[in-house]
Amino acid sequence: MGERETKDAISSAYNAFSHWSKLTAAERSTRLRKWYDLLIEHKEELGQLITLEQGKPLKEAITEVVSAAGHVEFFAEEAKRVYGDILPSPLPDRRLFVLKQPVGVVGAITPWNFPLGMIARKVAPALACGCTVVIKPSELTPLSALAAAELALQSGIPPGVLNVVMGDAPNIGNSILESPQVRKITFTGSTAVGKKLMAGAAETVKKVSPELGGNAPFIIFDDADLEAALKASLATKFRNSGQTCICTNRLLVQEGIYDKFINAFSSAVQSLKVVNGLSEDVAQGPLINEAAVQKVESLVQHAISQGAKVVVGGKRHNLGFTFYEPTIISDVKNEMLIAREEIFGPVTPVIRFKTEEEAIQIANDTESGLAAYLFTNNIQRSWRVCEALEYGIVGVNDGMFASPGAPFGGFKQSGLGRESSKYGLDEYLEIKCVCLGNMG
Ligand code: ADP
Repeated sequence: MGERETKDAISSAYNAFSHWSKLTAAERSTRLRKWYDLLIEHKEELGQLITLEQGKPLKEAITEVVSAAGHVEFFAEEAKRVYGDILPSPLPDRRLFVLKQPVGVVGAITPWNFPLGMIARKVAPALACGCTVVIKPSELTPLSALAAAELALQSGIPPGVLNVVMGDAPNIGNSILESPQVRKITFTGSTAVGKKLMAGAAETVKKVSPELGGNAPFIIFDDADLEAALKASLATKFRNSGQTCICTNRLLVQEGIYDKFINAFSSAVQSLKVVNGLSEDVAQGPLINEAAVQKVESLVQHAISQGAKVVVGGKRHNLGFTFYEPTIISDVKNEMLIAREEIFGPVTPVIRFKTEEEAIQIANDTESGLAAYLFTNNIQRSWRVCEALEYGIVGVNDGMFASPGAPFGGFKQSGLGRESSKYGLDEYLEIKCVCLGNMG
């Protein structure tokens, strides 16, 4: 699809807006709730679809479906809580109100790493507020989007409210940007494309909420519970073969426990089972495509040329295709490219540090600010470090916190705005101040 189909989709979303936005919140909520039910009812098939088109282990894919459905359920409930305000009036014969209204047609551009999850976390709040949506899923994973849209139709969400266009990304993107009928762009993807979309949205002054790349530090202090840190570092690094924006990108280990931790981490990484995502007990599937493998290879080679050492893995897996070995690289310096770029693959660069101040300095020395993790049993340190980290999401002795109720988004060049949670609704709402005069 290209420009013509995108324009058609925008028109159909624009026409559907007048009806959908005028339904009561309870009516929209009921349809969203039905969509949630259908997503859960079909979680096995949707999970298989995700694994087949994206490659992640089936168990992770089904978890993604449940989490996506959880967003739909959460925003079905939040639809009923879009409250306005009555403000103190500056004059005795006037009254002041604040109305919150849906922003209009939303363009949602989503990536391939969570083919269903990223759609749900954008579409559910948009629909809850009364907006209509044109989705452009990644050209690498369009099938989950189509399945989700079909289930939305079956839930009584009327035709035109949710539209999917797939194909030529720049062409579709430009048509969405140029249209004055599209009032908001929500995007998850690379920082480079996000910046282009922000610039393009300026022409028609659209609201924009880009969720961009991360460079997550995972800091382990000498006083940490090493077993808990080990478990969490494996999960945050190797989930989805390292292809999430909150995956650990740099492992910072304090010198007192460095050798002990790296030994334990190496044995655990060596035993991760790499095989196709539909197999039993799979820990890691393939990377998304050849370009992704080449990027990982070049970052690893560059790090080695700068003095880093391969502890585990470090090359393509003998399964061939786009499988890459779970990898640990030690003696990494924060100046190296591998510590500055988002790896998006199963490679853990390890940086050794001495003091708390040094760990904070290294962690913040990046343009990104999405997720960070720290492990310590010292409660004062956990507060100090948590407050000092320039990140939108911080896990303290915890590696996983994706929840529909928790705000998701970053500081610095990791993006603008927040998704999920009660804060996520604001991204799809306009504030109207109403002044009622002549009250006598
Ligand atoms: P990734 O590297 O994770 O694939 P991208 O930013 O390239 O990240 O892709 C995220 C989404 O942005 C995908 O749906 C992709 O098709 C879309 N995209 C890529 N280039 C453009 C563009 N010029 N205009 C609009 N969308 C784009």
